Amino acid sequence: MVLATAPTTSPRAAFTHLRCKECGAEYEPKATHVCELCFGPLEVAYDYAAIRERVSRDSIRQGPHSIWRYKDFLPVTTATPIDLGTGLTPLIRAERLGRRLGLKNLYLKNDAVNMPTLSFKDRVVSVALTRAQELGFTTVGCASTGNLANSTAAIAAHAGLECCVFIPADLEAGKVLGTLIYRPTVMAVKGNYDQVNRLCSEVANTHGWGFVNINLRPYYSEGSKTLGYEVVEQLGWRLPDHIVAPLASGSLFTKIHKGFREFVEVGLVEDRPVRCSGAQAQGCSPIAQAFAEHRDFVTPVKPNTIAKSIAIGNPADGVYALDQARKTGGSIDMATDAEIVAGIQLLAETEGIFTETAGGTTIAVLQKLAAAGRIDPEEVTVAYITGNGLKTQEAVQGYVGEPFTIEPQLDSFARALERSHTLERLEWQTIPV
Ligand SMILES: *Cc1c(COP(=O)(O)O)cnc(C)c1O
Ligand SMILES: [Zn+2]
Repeated sequence: MVLATAPTTSPRAAFTHLRCKECGAEYEPKATHVCELCFGPLEVAYDYAAIRERVSRDSIRQGPHSIWRYKDFLPVTTATPIDLGTGLTPLIRAERLGRRLGLKNLYLKNDAVNMPTLSFKDRVVSVALTRAQELGFTTVGCASTGNLANSTAAIAAHAGLECCVFIPADLEAGKVLGTLIYRPTVMAVKGNYDQVNRLCSEVANTHGWGFVNINLRPYYSEGSKTLGYEVVEQLGWRLPDHIVAPLASGSLFTKIHKGFREFVEVGLVEDRPVRCSGAQAQGCSPIAQAFAEHRDFVTPVKPNTIAKSIAIGNPADGVYALDQARKTGGSIDMATDAEIVAGIQLLAETEGIFTETAGGTTIAVLQKLAAAGRIDPEEVTVAYITGNGLKTQEAVQGYVGEPFTIEPQLDSFARALERSHTLERLEWQTIPV
C-alpha cells in the first residue's frame, strides 16, 4: 500500500520507511521490494539528522566488534540483532601485490574470512534475517549463486529459523556441502540463477516466506553498506580514492558507495571523490558490456563462467551500477576464466589470501586497470575480496601443481628438493593466460 503521509516507526530507529528508487513513492517498512506504481526497486530511507545527533566516531569505536557497530545506519529496530561476529574483517596493506602492479597504496578488504561462512554475504544475511524476525517470519529462504545459501542456512540455524534455500543444480561441491551441513531444506533447481530467482519470487508469494534477496531485498542490500563504513574507519576515517569490487546483481557495488555517502552526510568523514570500478567475468558480463558499448540499459545474458558466485545474467541493480561507475569516473571491466584463475593465484602467492572466483575476477580487473594506467600509483585503492577459495577448489584444480611425494628419509627429501629447484629455474608457467 502506498502511504499518503510519512509513516511512524519506533522512535529509536533512524530508518523510517521504504522509498522507490525511481519515482520516490513511500512505503511502510514491510516485506516488499517493488513499487506498486512504477515497478521500481524499493530502498530503505533514513532520518540522517537523527543519526548525526546520535552517532560519532567514538560511539562507533565503542560499539560491538561486528557490523552492528553501525546499527544506526541499518534497517533494524531490535536491541539484539543476530550477531555471529559478522564484519570488521581485515583491511590489509598489500605491499607485495602492489609492487607487482605498480601501485603504492593498495589495500585489500578481506571478506574471505568473514564470519560465519567466509563471504561478504554474511553481512547482508545478518541484516535481512534480523529484519525477518522483526517482521514475524518463521521460515526464510534465498535464491542463491552459492555463498548466499551458505550464509542464509548458517545464520538461520543460529537464529532458530526454518530455512529453505534454492540453488542452481550445477554449483560447486563445497558450496552445496557448506549449505547442507546446517540442515536447511535445499532445492537444487535444474536451471541457471535467473530461473532460480524467478521460481523463488513465486514461492515468496504463494508460501509467505521471507526471501532474503527477494521480498526482504531492501533490508538485505543495506548490509553491504558496512563494507564502505569499515573501510573508512580502518583507513583512519578517510575515504579511499578508488575502489574495485565484483558485480553480480550490482547491489554490493552500489551499497559500498551509499555507505561512503552516508558517512559524509552525517559528518563522520570528509568528502572526497571516490572512483568506483567494477569487475565481471567475461562469461557473464552484462553490465561490463553495457559499459563498453556506452549503453544506459543492461541486456540480460546466459551465464557461462567458472565465476559462479557472480553469475547473474539479469542483474537487478545493473543500471545503478553503470551510472555509479560513470559518474565517479570509474569503469566496469571483465576478465576471462583463465585470467580469473591467474588472479586467484597471484593474490595467493603475493599476499597469502586464497580467494574464490569472484575475488580472482576482482584481482584480474585490478591488474588490467593498473597495467592500462587507469589507477594512479599513489591513489589509495581498495580491492574487495568477497569470498573464500576453499569453497571453489575446482576452479584452480590442475593449475596449482602437486606436492613432492617422498620416503620418510633424508636422501629422498634431498632428491626432491633438488628437483624442486630445477622446476623453479624452469620458471613454471602452469597458468595459461
Ligand atoms: C554475491 C557475491 C558478490 C556480488 O553480489 P551482488 O549481487 O553484486 O551484490 C560478490 N562476490 C561474492 C563472493 C558473492 O558471493
Ligand atoms: Zn515507483
